[in-house]
Amino acid sequence: MIQDIAPKSLNNQYDPAKKPCASSPVFHFQGKKLLCSVRTERGPVEVNVSGPSSVKLTKEISFPTYEQAAAAGAFKGGEPSVNGPVPDLSFIFSVGDDDCFLLRSGDALEIPGFTYEEIGVYRDTFPVENAYAAVTAFHLNNWYESERFCGHCGTPLVHDGVERMMRCPKCGNMIFPRINPCVIVGIMHEDKILCTQYNRPGSGRFALVAGFCEIGETIEDTVRREVMEEVGVRVKNITFYKSQPWAMSSSLLCGFLCEAESEDAHADGVELASARWFTRDELKECYTPSHVALTSNIITAFMNGEIGPENCRR
Ligand SMILES: [Zn+2]
Repeated sequence: MIQDIAPKSLNNQYDPAKKPCASSPVFHFQGKKLLCSVRTERGPVEVNVSGPSSVKLTKEISFPTYEQAAAAGAFKGGEPSVNGPVPDLSFIFSVGDDDCFLLRSGDALEIPGFTYEEIGVYRDTFPVENAYAAVTAFHLNNWYESERFCGHCGTPLVHDGVERMMRCPKCGNMIFPRINPCVIVGIMHEDKILCTQYNRPGSGRFALVAGFCEIGETIEDTVRREVMEEVGVRVKNITFYKSQPWAMSSSLLCGFLCEAESEDAHADGVELASARWFTRDELKECYTPSHVALTSNIITAFMNGEIGPENCRR
């Protein structure tokens, strides 16, 4: 999955005192586009999905450094204020030995070799730690862009000095990064798994039943409700599998496995266009694994015989 970047790791401990060095990566967005370099000279790189399944990535992604951003005039008018008003250069996380910074200011930068690319570029670029850093920076950038004024009193918010949080200097309102819990459900019955397809244009990819946790329910309740709403199936033996931070919807995806009481499933026709049971052999004929998402990790692990209904019985 996109967050599996071992032997490196992403350290998100908040440290507002951290200052960039010349080689520190700087993330700068224009809407959903990220300033980066995408090159093809050094690929392909093979990345594991699950079991024997892997994908080959041909595009290499990198980001401008603090030195390059400064030379392009990102901080003209003096040194950037770290965790101050815009232009605002905030330490966001480190990846391996690199301290990464987010530049918030409106104007596009012109840096030779770098262009603003749609954030979806993370899906097929290597190294995976850079792809993961890009979407995580996107998640934080969205949050910082949305949380500029206090929702209670309208006062401009400021960075907190201790935690990653925006604080209202007038009324004390505290706003933490937005993370919406969701479920992704691998529904199995004997030798089959239930795959779905979304009811929206261009969405031919296989999916699993999924949805946001609502107010007043446990995450297991979400599993039962979403499965019933989307495919009309009663499930049992709901078992937590793995989780995944999903920056594109500011979510934490909680992956569950469960067993259907019968194979009597039907798509709701609203959110889902189809819901169909697949055996492992049928998946091998038509399913293309991806290294990015928990959904693909679950489908691929089932296809390869690494998981099955027995994983739900404790
Ligand atoms: Zn306020």
